[in-house]
Amino acid sequence: MQTAEKDPTTAFRWDDPPDPDKYSVCVHCGLCLEACPTYQELGIENQSPRGRVYLIRAASEGRLPLDEALIDPVFRCLDCRACESVCPSGVRVGTLIEQARGQVFAARPARGFSGWLQRLFLRRIFPSPKRLRTLARLGRFYQRSGLAGLARATGVLRLLPAHLREMEHALPEIPARSSREVLPARMPARGCRKGQVALVTGCIMDVMFAETNVATARVLARNGFDVVVPEGQVCCGALQVHSGDRQTAKAMARRNIDVFLAQDVDAVIINAAGCGAALKEYGEWLRTDAAYRAKAEQFSRKVKDISEFLAEADVEPPKGRVDMTVTYHDACHLCHAQGIRRQPRELLTSVPGLRLVEMPDSERCCGSAGVYNLTHPEMAGPLLDRKMADVPDEAQAIVMGNPGCMMQIRVGVYRVGSTCEVMHTVDILDAAYRAEEGNRCSRRGKSWWRN
Ligand code: SF4
Ligand code: SF4
Repeated sequence: MQTAEKDPTTAFRWDDPPDPDKYSVCVHCGLCLEACPTYQELGIENQSPRGRVYLIRAASEGRLPLDEALIDPVFRCLDCRACESVCPSGVRVGTLIEQARGQVFAARPARGFSGWLQRLFLRRIFPSPKRLRTLARLGRFYQRSGLAGLARATGVLRLLPAHLREMEHALPEIPARSSREVLPARMPARGCRKGQVALVTGCIMDVMFAETNVATARVLARNGFDVVVPEGQVCCGALQVHSGDRQTAKAMARRNIDVFLAQDVDAVIINAAGCGAALKEYGEWLRTDAAYRAKAEQFSRKVKDISEFLAEADVEPPKGRVDMTVTYHDACHLCHAQGIRRQPRELLTSVPGLRLVEMPDSERCCGSAGVYNLTHPEMAGPLLDRKMADVPDEAQAIVMGNPGCMMQIRVGVYRVGSTCEVMHTVDILDAAYRAEEGNRCSRRGKSWWRN
């Protein structure tokens, strides 16, 4: 329950306000401006990292009310953290933005139908794997029953805004079963056993990209790790934190901490960049929770992105070939939030037959940013256009490590009429390991796990 304190010296009167230790280290140098996608698009100081930090500080010190002058810049931020990669003072802009959003969420709750819908998804659907699976089944029914074809043929989809129409077209085929329904509770290591890890199945990854979760477990087992998939885990809470619903996010974090710390594992593996960044920040989220602070830090230390873990584990490179030319998109929450850039590239280039062609400015946000492409299509659309213009002509696939980017770039592929595939780094590795065993390896990803 959020509590409002009667402190007239600040606009931030609810729990968990922006941390003065974080905004006070900004030296206003402006080195972050050119790295910021919203500043690049709009050229306005208030829509830059420096401007946002200044506004947050002003509201915190009671010089600015909690109104649109603050709310719009705070919510127009992509939370991409490109600014953090270049800031010489180490300003944690993303955390400040998330804390400020928490104040707005508490002070000005969304009303009407949109408020109801927001609370339904943030508090009822995403925290419940069962409800999410039900929603996915409805989506699959829509895709496969002929309803989607009917909706397109009758033109009823024209009632939707253009960006939602594109998303409807570009949505991947929803698998019949989620990864949690397919994966065993424990997948044993193959060959020489090196240890045991726990897999975070996530929310969107679980229902939309189940094949990639299965591929992740298979690659880990192939490299000597027992993989446990703990019951009771829930979505990481990143979407809630990005939206300002910190109370729900913290409740989900506590649940995951209890579930994963009960496992005897060397590492907690995640293959979604946005979720990985959130899981690594549980210690920060729960820093004022005396009962969970230490446990949260212990949990966060165990979290590893799959590419980070495989690179550190010095795994055996695959011997099977994947004859493709690919380009790599750096998901913001992998490169900027977690500093993981080299590892996915090393894994990809370890695959015989694979050629990696770098795209220019590969660390620039694609516009996905959680639900940003839904809430701010006017900013997400041009960012996606820029991303697609940067894809090298010879690339047969665009590879990345985050489901939000995969969905957004699928929209981009549809928009430009490209034949490029959109793949996760692990999809490629899994294909290569399976190819070495003589399994048929199609460039069409879906057959890799079904055969
Ligand atoms: S956020 Fe960092 S880079 Fe940007 S103005 Fe402040 S100190 Fe400089
Ligand atoms: S997180 Fe991204 S969009 Fe937000 S201020 Fe930093 S660079 Fe700009």
